Amino acid sequence: MKFYSLNNRKHTSNFENAVIRGLAPDKGLYFPEQIKKLPDSFFEDLANIDKVEMALTVIKPYTGDEIPVADLEDIINRSLDFEFPVVPINDRISVLELFHGPTMAFKDVGAGFMAGCLGYFVKKGNLGNVTVLVATSGDTGGAVAHGFLGVEGIDVVILYPKGKVSEVQEKQLTSLGKNITALEVDGTFDNCQAMVKKAFLDEEITGKRQLTSANSINLARWLPQMFYYFLAVKQLKGSAEPVFSVPSGNFGNICAGMMANAMGLPVAHFVAANNRNDTVVDYMQTGNYRSRKSVQTISNAMDVGDPSNFVRILEIFQKEFTALKNRFSAYSYDDDTTKNAIKEVYSEYGYLMDPHGAVGYLGLKEYLKKRPDQHGIFLETAHPVKFLETVEEVIGEKVPLPEEIKELMSKQKKSLQIKTYDDLKGFLLND
Ligand SMILES: *Cc1c(COP(=O)(O)O)cnc(C)c1O
Repeated sequence: MKFYSLNNRKHTSNFENAVIRGLAPDKGLYFPEQIKKLPDSFFEDLANIDKVEMALTVIKPYTGDEIPVADLEDIINRSLDFEFPVVPINDRISVLELFHGPTMAFKDVGAGFMAGCLGYFVKKGNLGNVTVLVATSGDTGGAVAHGFLGVEGIDVVILYPKGKVSEVQEKQLTSLGKNITALEVDGTFDNCQAMVKKAFLDEEITGKRQLTSANSINLARWLPQMFYYFLAVKQLKGSAEPVFSVPSGNFGNICAGMMANAMGLPVAHFVAANNRNDTVVDYMQTGNYRSRKSVQTISNAMDVGDPSNFVRILEIFQKEFTALKNRFSAYSYDDDTTKNAIKEVYSEYGYLMDPHGAVGYLGLKEYLKKRPDQHGIFLETAHPVKFLETVEEVIGEKVPLPEEIKELMSKQKKSLQIKTYDDLKGFLLND
């Protein structure tokens, strides 16, 4: 399939080049020329169909014949190699747990799928070696590092702000070795991101190394997120259409859900659950999109003031505001409300949510309040132990650490300390 730039419909690309580039040369996000409707028979059979075969049917229209089926199946197999259970909280609310992957955040699926695709394109030959350069505020770095670990022909360089990621997140970034290098930057996440942007424009570097990014606007990270929604509906075994509530930051995940819906997946409604970064809530109320500076919250992976993927949602609805409103709502919650939700759900139902999932829970509860005949699923995007301090403080109890985390914490941290752009440049030119 061809993909066009959302800045200019005439600027198109195949899947491979769109994945390698990330953004179109005109800086627009790529969007598929068609959204493929899947046949009724596929949905009638959804409960019985094998997970990998299901995912293959969903993604194949977009990858076309650019990745042979056997390789694509292999890529899917590796990126979906864990459980995605739907767990009931009460009789109207369930949670889709997306944290059973290697770094305990939902980004594992997208990162693994992208690593598989890029690995295939490199192996095929005409690309040469590639360096994935990425700045992280926490979760992205770990997922990307694990996804790309050991993929031949690809080096990964991750910049993270010293002292500003959680201990678990830091270990996930720095303990892998092999083709993964962690650069610990004496600065903020914004400094890291500015350095990465500068490197992409630096011809001395790009003349020597082929750079690519692995952020969430990349097609190969965005599209496989559709799988979650199919996997959830599959487990409902034909009961009524669910409402999905998605804790949202850059809006890639929820937008993938809306793509799944456009492909025919039965979904009653989508709720974007936000923290205090409420640009989209404001848009849905006023019809005016005003980006703003992000504010810091306890659900920090959603601290985004200008969500990049929202333009893709507008594109799905061809910018028809009423059609969008019928299918989509957005709510915002502050940190205190989020903490109370964690406490409430833990004491009433014995279920422990992380701060991101808690925002999702609140959004779903609010939407269902006025609709007594509907039921819904919120997405739990990270394991609560990734946000141990907040969660333990809120419930006033120690949370037992899973074995994987204990093992991770015993591993050795390896990072290179850097301060300035010249340090990064020196590393990229000389390594
Ligand atoms: C990245 C992230 C989100 C936000 O997802 P988007 O696709 O950017 O909206 C939510 N929760 C967690 C735990 C994340 O890591």
